[in-house]
Amino acid sequence: MSDIGFETRHCLIGDGWRPAEGGTLPLGNPSDGTCLAEIAAGGPAEVDAAVAAARAAAEGEWGRSTAAERGRLLARLGRLVEARAEELARLEALDVGKPLSQARADALALARYLEFYGGAADKVMGETIPFERGYTVWTLREPYGVTAHIVPWNYPMQIIGRSVGAALAMGNACVLKPAEEACLTALAFARLAQEAGLPAGALNVVPGTGRDAGAALAGHPGVDHISFTGSVTTGEAVQIAAAHNVRPVTLELGGKSPQVVFADADLDRALPFLVRAGIQNAGQTCSAAARILVERAVLDEVTGRMSAAYRALRLGPALSDPDVGPLISARQKALVEGHLARGGDVLAEARAEGLPEGGHYVPPRLLGGVPPDHALAQEEIFGPVQVILPFDGEDEAVRIANGTEYGLVAGVWTRDGGRQLRMARALRAGQVFLNNYGAGGGVELPFGGIGKSGHGREKGFEALYGFSTLKTVAAWHG
Ligand code: NAD
Repeated sequence: MSDIGFETRHCLIGDGWRPAEGGTLPLGNPSDGTCLAEIAAGGPAEVDAAVAAARAAAEGEWGRSTAAERGRLLARLGRLVEARAEELARLEALDVGKPLSQARADALALARYLEFYGGAADKVMGETIPFERGYTVWTLREPYGVTAHIVPWNYPMQIIGRSVGAALAMGNACVLKPAEEACLTALAFARLAQEAGLPAGALNVVPGTGRDAGAALAGHPGVDHISFTGSVTTGEAVQIAAAHNVRPVTLELGGKSPQVVFADADLDRALPFLVRAGIQNAGQTCSAAARILVERAVLDEVTGRMSAAYRALRLGPALSDPDVGPLISARQKALVEGHLARGGDVLAEARAEGLPEGGHYVPPRLLGGVPPDHALAQEEIFGPVQVILPFDGEDEAVRIANGTEYGLVAGVWTRDGGRQLRMARALRAGQVFLNNYGAGGGVELPFGGIGKSGHGREKGFEALYGFSTLKTVAAWHG
């Protein structure tokens, strides 16, 4: 399947690749519905073994490594990933159904995360604290020990980069549970980590279902910290499981993110961002701009231009590098179609012609004619669907933008500097983009949500604090 040299049916536990007691699961190809590979059906037995291997690494050679050594290792791994970017991109495209050029960008983002966290590993410092006479007090940033990383199928490489990369930089030993729908690049990444010289047990990979492998990992008493990215429902279950062991959890969940277009916006610049943020990865992006709020004075123009862009979109199998690929699974397609059956005016829809039988394609659809409290404007659809919501003035824009249970990302398009600053403060979101959306991926930029979008921050330097615990040392010396 790949020159990187991994066996799709195996888990990585310690330094050994081995099958799971539970046998295998089929991995579907979203572009044509065929079976791509068999993967390990990991479960509690493999999770136990992986946690034990991680513990041994955390208390062994890996736990004693210096920050500089870890930094060099991550940088080396980043270079290996970069050298294999084309192969990794192909695997991700096949597995996720993601257009090849988007998968390429993800592979390079993974390399960049490793470069960033490699460079940052030896720059995390504690502080000395002024205190009473006779004392010297300082803080130490220490790894948690064993960190669990439960990852979804939509951006495996990027999410592995931002969570496993930061956790390893801080000296944690990781157990990675990729999604059962897409786990090839997780396995390839682990193989490259071995090639880069990562000691046995510092990274373990247990593919399997959420019910078997995921739940076993989330509730495992040997895990010291859990990073979860996925749906709200599963996030709740993971947080409850972690609570039974009183373990910290980072939750990166969903969103219904708005882009707010004021009448004075530079529409030529805004348009590609508006559309791309809805259809990228077929809309299966947590930070997708699912709601486009448009000031009424430019409603017709924005609707007309977005509709034209939608009609020009090219759908196709991932390796043909279309604008939009298939959804991940028949189940996801049915979920999206269920949302679409709830109504709304179809302002534009992409054409679906000559697509392979069996692929999970849903033509991107631009909707209007629903009020802001309608289910289509409130619930995460996780498919290539955007809703246009008109507004009058700044106050109403803020009310609509903030009027969901989510708060992940928001975009604002206006030439008015004062309004940019007011909107940046008023919007309820973990990231606000002014006259752009996404800042090209933003490896360096802390990312995470509020409300049902989750809590905790990954990406950027901030993640290094998230994957470490703070110890205060007070020395009395008289
Ligand atoms: P999901 O919650 O079904 O699955 C995510 C992961 O959790 C998978 O690895 C799955 O096997 C595992 N899992 C499932 N049940 C589990 C359980 N009981 N215990 C432990 N693990 C379990 O989500 P999904 O359908 O794979 O992904 C789509 C969702 O993820 C969307 O809502 C999307 O917005 C969200 N997401 C968020 C971000 C972010 O950074 N905020 C990024 C990507 C996706």
